[in-house]
Amino acid sequence: MRSMLIVSLFVFVLGCGTSGQHRWQPARWSIALHGGAGAIAKDAPQELQLAYQEALERALTLGADVLRTGGTSLDAVEQVIRVFEDDPMFNCGRGAVFNNEGKHELDASIMDGETLACGAVTGVVTVKHPISLARKVMTDTRHVLFSGVGAEHFADQTSLERVENSYFSTELRRQQWLERRARSSLVPAQDRGTVGVVALDSAGHLAAGTSTGGLTLKRWGRVGDSPIIGAGTYADDRTCAVSCTGTGEEFIRHAIAYSVSARMALARKTVQEASDHAIHEVLQPDDGGLVALDRYGRAAFSFSTAGMYRGAADSKGRFEVGIHETMIGASLAAGP
Ligand code: ASP
Repeated sequence: MRSMLIVSLFVFVLGCGTSGQHRWQPARWSIALHGGAGAIAKDAPQELQLAYQEALERALTLGADVLRTGGTSLDAVEQVIRVFEDDPMFNCGRGAVFNNEGKHELDASIMDGETLACGAVTGVVTVKHPISLARKVMTDTRHVLFSGVGAEHFADQTSLERVENSYFSTELRRQQWLERRARSSLVPAQDRGTVGVVALDSAGHLAAGTSTGGLTLKRWGRVGDSPIIGAGTYADDRTCAVSCTGTGEEFIRHAIAYSVSARMALARKTVQEASDHAIHEVLQPDDGGLVALDRYGRAAFSFSTAGMYRGAADSKGRFEVGIHETMIGASLAAGP
C-alpha cells in the first residue's frame, strides 16, 4: 500500500513536470513602460485616446523588437525612451512642460540591474535626448549624476544632438503653463506625461530608465524623482526594475523605486505586492504610479491617479496597453 502511494506520488510529480503547457514559465524577455500617471479624462475625445494608445503601441513594438532580436535591456530602455522624447504628446524631450520661467529643464536616469551601474542628468536645457546623456554618464564617467551647467558641459564632449531650448516647446504645454500660472498651482493631473521603461533581456538582465520635463511651474533648479536613483528609477537583477511617475517630492521622500526592490528582497513580496504597497500604503492618493518588472519578466503596474499611460509585452505573447483601469489587448502580437 505504502509503495503504491509512493509510486503514484512519483507518477503525479512526473506528470506535473512534463505536462508542459500548464506550468508557469518565466518570460525570455519582457518590457513594461509608462507615459506618465494622471492621464487624460475618460470622456476625452476618442481620437485623443486613440492617439495615446497608438503612441504606446509604437513604443512597445520597438522595445519588443529590440529584445526579441537579442538586444540588451539597456538598449531597449534607451531606444524606447528616445522615441518618447521625440513625441510631443509626452512630458519629456519635445513636449516637456514649462518651468516657472517659461523654459524647459529636463531630467533623466538609467540603471543597469546587472552591475548597479547608473547615470543621470538634471536641469538639461539643450540635449535632445536626455536619456542618452544619462547613459553616457553611466558608461563614460565614474560619476552618477550631473546637473545643469555641468551636464551641459559634459554633453559638449559627446556627439549627442543639441537643440535650442524652444525646440522642446509645444502649444499645449504653453497653454497648460499659462493656466497653471493663473492659478499658481504646482501639482497638475493633466500635464504629467513623464516616461519610463523597464526591461528584461534574454541574458536575464534588468534595466530601468525614466525621462521627464518635471512639473509645470517648477522653481529654480528644482529636481524631481526621475533623475534620482532609488526614488524615480531603480534596477537590480536580484529583484526588479522600477520606473516611477508622479509628484517627485513624495517619491524622493520615500525612496519609492528602491523600496519596491527592498520589499521584494526583505519581505519576500511579489513585484505587484511591493509596488502596490509603495503606491497605496506609503504614498497618498493621487501621488502617482510606477511600472516594475521582476527577474522572471512579470510586469507590475500600480497607480493612485485616475489613469496611467502604460503597456507591457513579453516573449510569451503578451502585448497590451492601458490608459485608465483596464488594459487594452492590442492587435499586434509580440511573438516569442
Ligand atoms: N515625477 C516627475 C517629477 O516630479 C513628474 C511626473 O512624473 O509627472 O519631476
